[in-house]
Amino acid sequence: MGARLLMNFELTPTSHTLADYRARGGYRAIEKALGEMTPQQVTAEVTASGIQGRGGANFSAGRKWSVVNLSDGQPHYLCANADEGEPGTFKDRWILENAPHLLLESMLIAAYALQVRHAFIYIRGEFDLPWRRISGALEEAYAAGYFGKPLFGTDFVCDLVVYRGAGSYVCGEASGLLSSLEGKRGYPRNRPPRLTVRGLYQRPTVVNNVETLSNIAGIINGGAEAFKATGTKKSPGTRLISISGHINKPGVYEIEPGGAFREFIFDTCGGVPGGRKVKAIIPGGISTKVVTGEEVDRLTLDNEALATVGSGMGSGGMVVIGEGTCMVRLLQVLLRFYHHESCGQCTPCREGMGWMHRIIDRIVAGGGRPEDLEQLKKISAWNDGNTICGMGDAAGYATVGILAKFSDEFEYFIAHGRSRHDGNLECRAST
Ligand code: SF4
Repeated sequence: MGARLLMNFELTPTSHTLADYRARGGYRAIEKALGEMTPQQVTAEVTASGIQGRGGANFSAGRKWSVVNLSDGQPHYLCANADEGEPGTFKDRWILENAPHLLLESMLIAAYALQVRHAFIYIRGEFDLPWRRISGALEEAYAAGYFGKPLFGTDFVCDLVVYRGAGSYVCGEASGLLSSLEGKRGYPRNRPPRLTVRGLYQRPTVVNNVETLSNIAGIINGGAEAFKATGTKKSPGTRLISISGHINKPGVYEIEPGGAFREFIFDTCGGVPGGRKVKAIIPGGISTKVVTGEEVDRLTLDNEALATVGSGMGSGGMVVIGEGTCMVRLLQVLLRFYHHESCGQCTPCREGMGWMHRIIDRIVAGGGRPEDLEQLKKISAWNDGNTICGMGDAAGYATVGILAKFSDEFEYFIAHGRSRHDGNLECRAST
């Protein structure tokens, strides 16, 4: 993985330890923030950097922080969303395992900016090594006096708790996460009110993605201008991309948005096994609309370019689909996932996902009907904007995106009762 702004250092076997992190200048950004900046100045710097959330929605982190009223006399809370559960997205896990102190220091800075006394890391239950690493780092940080005591001669004190979830996709949705953190069932909540107004225990709460927060120490150390100098206007800074699927070198890469998409796939990640072509790529988590191989050839890898084909960088979870893959079976896998993970609160999501899943199962079993494709699109449209959280929409985006670009494969499957690609997900040559 190329080291740039976010990591600020090369990966070593001990980069998760406090000694290593300090040797690289760790915990100086929080000292600088406390010694030279007011909380408002920290937020202003983060806003000026233009950093967008790395969890999928790509909303401005600084603008989210700015909503918190620092003089309202209420407790404020901060929570790192480490419930990374989307298939193909595993870049936050990389930070938790390899650079936990970067997250902890950045959370201290965010806690100072937001005047937070108690912060949380909500981590996915299945994450074992990431949980051990972040918990070990927190113990080290407590022992060194970074948490639980007034810091650097100021009266700023922050405590942090690592909370292990039980592993539900919908607990990665910010309001579902807070419900789970409160000890309740992880049901997402209706908004408004925004979580920055009424979040954890009905108090103003900022929930940020792990990667988003991990950029904060670098922004304070290097300044907003340096951060903005990397990447593109709408995708400033670097991005972590987790890439998997039909790719020779899967893993986590730190990229500078704006480079050629094709170069990243073929030069950096080694292309598709067997020298095959790229059929399609899901660029930023399974809810982002699929991009075809032809589009990959002419696009740069940034939000601006991906928006021209109806997609985006989302959470940075990239899935490569090699030539010969059956897109009908691919959609079946995605819809099975969404149906399984629906929490069931909203009728359009609960029933709609099941309905879509049944339709695609029937098509794959050879019983497809010509009207099925229109029906899938209609159910997607009924879900859109009519559910409590974004998951109802997300399944529709994935479905509509695949149908729009690969409808011929679905028509073939329905007409012949079988796949054009032998009905499986293997990467095979087109017939
Ligand atoms: S959209 Fe789906 S996952 Fe989200 S709250 Fe409604 S039922 Fe639950």
